[in-house]
Amino acid sequence: MPIYCYRAKEREKSCEYCRQGFEIFEKKRAVLKYCPRCGNEVVKVYAPFSVGFSRSGFDQKAKEKGFHKLKRVDKGKYEKIY
Ligand SMILES: [Zn+2]
Repeated sequence: MPIYCYRAKEREKSCEYCRQGFEIFEKKRAVLKYCPRCGNEVVKVYAPFSVGFSRSGFDQKAKEKGFHKLKRVDKGKYEKIY
């Protein structure tokens, strides 16, 4: 499943959630353009800490970095994993 990391494009307008960055995985290769919480524009980022980590290690690192993980459960609906 593709994993995407996003961060707010304009930090001063962002909410706390997208300012820190969050991770999302989607069934389709859709690219998220807006924060699911505040609706401001987000950009896809590549997390350098993902390299060389196992799946669980990645989750751990993501948590430490303050990322949140969302699971898309329905159209426009996201479930927070952490
Ligand atoms: Zn936001």
